[in-house]
Amino acid sequence: MAYNGKHRRFNPFEDGVSRREMVVGSSLVVAGVALGTAGAMGTQTGQAASRNAAATSAAGGSRGREEQRKTAEAAPRAAESERASRGESRQPLREQRKKEEPEPRPEKSRPARRAKKASAVPIILSTGEWKARKPERKATVRSGPPKFIVIHHTTTDNVDDFSLSRAKWLARAIQNAHLKQGWGDTGQQFTISRGGHILEGRAGSLDAVRAGDMVVGTHVAGLNDFAVGIECEGMYSNVLPPRELRASLVRMCAWLCREYDLNPHKVIVPHRKFNPTDCCGRKFARTIPQLRRAVAKAL
Ligand SMILES: [Zn+2]
Repeated sequence: MAYNGKHRRFNPFEDGVSRREMVVGSSLVVAGVALGTAGAMGTQTGQAASRNAAATSAAGGSRGREEQRKTAEAAPRAAESERASRGESRQPLREQRKKEEPEPRPEKSRPARRAKKASAVPIILSTGEWKARKPERKATVRSGPPKFIVIHHTTTDNVDDFSLSRAKWLARAIQNAHLKQGWGDTGQQFTISRGGHILEGRAGSLDAVRAGDMVVGTHVAGLNDFAVGIECEGMYSNVLPPRELRASLVRMCAWLCREYDLNPHKVIVPHRKFNPTDCCGRKFARTIPQLRRAVAKAL
């Protein structure tokens, strides 16, 4: 049927998704975990890692102070704007407008936007909370935001175990597999289970995001220095991820876009865009534009 413009465009990443969309129990079993990241070796040296880590810890402190300064500046501006509008109420309307126009709008400033959305910060289990092994190499931290948020699928079974314990097990299994590959730790920065549980992948990823920086992962060949990777549990060549996973992915991407001040339409990309792989699955990859729209709406 031709689209007549009267119906709202269907977006599987927004609420009201039918449970029929959830297809579980795929018979596809792939040896190893998170094969979607295969061939994504990055290069890093211990020396570079410690140098960058030191730089980040300094940058984190100054960023915190910068945020405090911005917030402190925004408050008097808001009060001044309020006083101005009260005082001008006796003046002609045109005069009022003229005076109000150059005033910054504090409610649209970044600190205010972040404060308003504080409740939208997703719950993310740190490596300590899922009992990760000690990384074999200290993470390399790069200052500043990434250029891309790369979406992967783990190419593991589409299980119907949506529990937190399964999510923790998955995170440990991925780390074990990636340590065996010689990647020093989990390859991707974040993982989302079929049940929608979000977990930190490579150690230090959470702190780095909060500081406005990024941990260099091993998940997308040639772009590891510029990309934060999210592994979605499952295999999505022929089916979409379950609603729980999709909802968490929207929240997670929105949080990253807010923290880094990124435009979801420009930065969210499927792994297959950069490397010769099906990742994050043909069917799932086709819905990335809808994911971007849902994230933009959630900002
Ligand atoms: Zn991938």
